[in-house]
Amino acid sequence: MKLSFHGAAGGVTGSCYLLDTGNKRILIDCGLFQGNDEEERRNFDDFGFDPESIDILLLTHAHLDHCGRIPLLVKRGFKGEIIATAATRDLARLVLLDAAQIHEEDAARAARNLQRHGQKGPQPLYGVYDAARAFDQFGRTAEFDTRIEIGRNLHVRFAEAGHILGSAFLVIDAGDGGDRTRIVFSGDLGPFGRSILRDPALPPQADYVVMETTYGDRRHRGLKESVAELYEAITETHRRGGNVIIPTFALERAQEILFHLAQGVRDKVLSPYLPVFLDSPMAISATQIFRNHPDCLKPELGDALRKGHDPLDLPGLKFTRQVADSIALNRVESGAVILAGSGMCTGGRVLHHLKHNLWRPECTVIFVGFAAQGTLARRIIDGEGTVKLYGQVIGVRARACTINGFSAHAGQDELLRWYSGAGAPKTTFLVHGDAQGGMAAMEKLVAGQGGKVRCPVLHETVELR
Ligand SMILES: [Zn+2]
Repeated sequence: MKLSFHGAAGGVTGSCYLLDTGNKRILIDCGLFQGNDEEERRNFDDFGFDPESIDILLLTHAHLDHCGRIPLLVKRGFKGEIIATAATRDLARLVLLDAAQIHEEDAARAARNLQRHGQKGPQPLYGVYDAARAFDQFGRTAEFDTRIEIGRNLHVRFAEAGHILGSAFLVIDAGDGGDRTRIVFSGDLGPFGRSILRDPALPPQADYVVMETTYGDRRHRGLKESVAELYEAITETHRRGGNVIIPTFALERAQEILFHLAQGVRDKVLSPYLPVFLDSPMAISATQIFRNHPDCLKPELGDALRKGHDPLDLPGLKFTRQVADSIALNRVESGAVILAGSGMCTGGRVLHHLKHNLWRPECTVIFVGFAAQGTLARRIIDGEGTVKLYGQVIGVRARACTINGFSAHAGQDELLRWYSGAGAPKTTFLVHGDAQGGMAAMEKLVAGQGGKVRCPVLHETVELR
């Protein structure tokens, strides 16, 4: 049996692993490389294997860095079955159609520019048609904790990863009885004790583990303190007569913040009249998908939802799907909470809310997620005095506040807690982490527990015996 690493090896994005059992070729995730231009150009490269030769694709969750190259895989000849949980399939449809549209728009824009110089424009990585076609290949739905036969003497089980709605880690058993080899793929793991999602399950004893290490060098702040900080920032801003802008990621973070706002109103910490605007068509659709999957939520929230009590709803919540409604928010001078994408302020509707609120000292921008170097979010957090928005220089006079406790990724202690379930694997492969940061930290800690540890490089193949 062979395992090769065709993404998220020595880096954080592009998750893609190929397990070749001799009889079956199984791909685990097929994600997009994201980040700077060099990373993004990698998406056009060869996969490192022939897409036509793949029998099955197992998808751990719907983040783009895990599913974003699936339409390209199909475009290049993959004809096999895609297996995922029901919630992952629904979220992946939303995410991939959106990504395809962006690829088409980017390519069209580049083509227009090049045409002026008499050159031909680039082809998009894939288009909406390819994304739609990929959905014809979603086959069986994976129920959590249920063995699925994917070949002769070959089974997979999807287990709760607690990272985003529907996210799973995979337990693959090749062979039976004493001859069995068990490989666990962590996908992305969430922290324990979150607000909407269930805790990650622990893996069973395994021969090999492929583990993410995104935040292997960090410890998260407690959720309780973060929620208290959120309420305090909102109350204080509204007392000053300003608005609160929260740049949010459409999947998970937006719903988590909505849940805490609703909870704050129920607990009378926040005003029952608090006007909250979810100003992101994608986050609105994702919120609807959350409502359609009560089984993936914490049992008490799932039960409430089935009885018609929506834990993500609050009296003053408005969804602004139409552009005109979004623009109308520019007239709201005080007392509002506006959630809009993108989370790192690299584009999207949050930009026009920043343009109208960032220069006002009575307003607050609350960052609840990761902000990469070079992004507008990072520059505001780092205290730059002015930023450029839509060609205009805007003074940064609003308060910028960063709340770190809402992470969707397990921190160091939680990764180790999860890993302890796997017993003493023969080899642990560390992926999906920064070679100098999370991965390096986890390498030391996991090596301290006895087994062999490897940090594979891109396209490396190892023999599993
Ligand atoms: Zn993820």
